[in-house]
Amino acid sequence: MKPATFDYLAPRTLPEALAALGEGAQVLAGGQSLLLEMHLKRLDPALVVDVNHVPGLDHLDVADGRVEVGALVRHKVFESPEAVPGPLGGLFARAVVNIAHPPIRTRGTMVGSLAWAHPASEWCALAMALDAEIDLAAAHGTRTIAARDYFLGPFRTARRPDELITVIRFPLLSPDTGVGFLEHRRTGFSFAQVAVGAAITIREGVVTEARIGLANCADRPIRAEAAEQSLIGAEIACPGGPRVPADHPFTRAGRTAADQDAAPVPEPHADVEYRRHVIAVLVARTLREAAIR
Ligand SMILES: Cc1cc2nc3c(=O)[nH]c(=O)nc-3n(C[C@H](O)[C@H](O)[C@H](O)COP(=O)(O)OP(=O)(O)OC[C@H]3O[C@@H](n4cnc5c(N)ncnc54)[C@H](O)[C@@H]3O)c2cc1C
Repeated sequence: MKPATFDYLAPRTLPEALAALGEGAQVLAGGQSLLLEMHLKRLDPALVVDVNHVPGLDHLDVADGRVEVGALVRHKVFESPEAVPGPLGGLFARAVVNIAHPPIRTRGTMVGSLAWAHPASEWCALAMALDAEIDLAAAHGTRTIAARDYFLGPFRTARRPDELITVIRFPLLSPDTGVGFLEHRRTGFSFAQVAVGAAITIREGVVTEARIGLANCADRPIRAEAAEQSLIGAEIACPGGPRVPADHPFTRAGRTAADQDAAPVPEPHADVEYRRHVIAVLVARTLREAAIR
């Protein structure tokens, strides 16, 4: 199908881009979700504002213990664990390869994923787990919003139609943090049925910090806070194989995530019971992966 008729604007400055945004306008970043939706006629914007020629939106900077990802940084950049210092770079590299396939990762952007807010988005789950901040700019001013206040539901966020996301900011992880990311999906290129990202710090055999982000485990990306809490202070003997024993703290955290944190919705290929089972298993395995790294 062809999209309905629309106007196209390719601004050369940020103020020009911001002046054009508002009700009925869509931002074109990587175009990997927008153009598909337009072709399927699920979106019919009157105006497409292509921000690819706006200078200053493609920066990836590290300052004050945080990494700033500009609106035009493509998924592909994060395939290299060195793109971002420390364990955070490793976590991004583990997550990004689950996003679609190389041509999509070459054009699509991390910020575009946050703007689109698919409940199964890997980046959105990590933004929740890691307490990311999102900078929004409009013609009348800018604001910063925490990820936990940003996601409102499937494809629904606190972004207003006249706002452009300019930056996502993640805190770097301390060098002794272990990271893991695992995903379950029907086919190689489908969206995740369940995805789990974890960062865990274990000092002298005891968990001191745990962060767990879940994708497609509710109507929006979530942080598994009850599961995290269940781990703090737990003594960990890391399981040798991929099967985590039933009485292990990681197994209990998986069950907690599935029963208390997650609110899975049924899908044609996965009812709620099945999805809770997958969440429990995947959280335990991701924590194990994080603990052995
Ligand atoms: C076959 C296929 C498989 C995919 N699999 C996955 C997957 O497994 N996981 C996953 O996370 N994604 C997946 N995607 C989506 C892909 O990751 C997109 O790149 C991403 O969702 C959107 O990024 P984009 O830069 O392409 O945004 P665009 O398509 O350009 O825009 C998407 C939406 O975000 C808005 N937007 C974009 N940038 C901004 C901004 N800076 N400020 C405000 N609004 C903005 C646009 O207005 C539009 O509504 C898949 C896509 C396809 C086609």
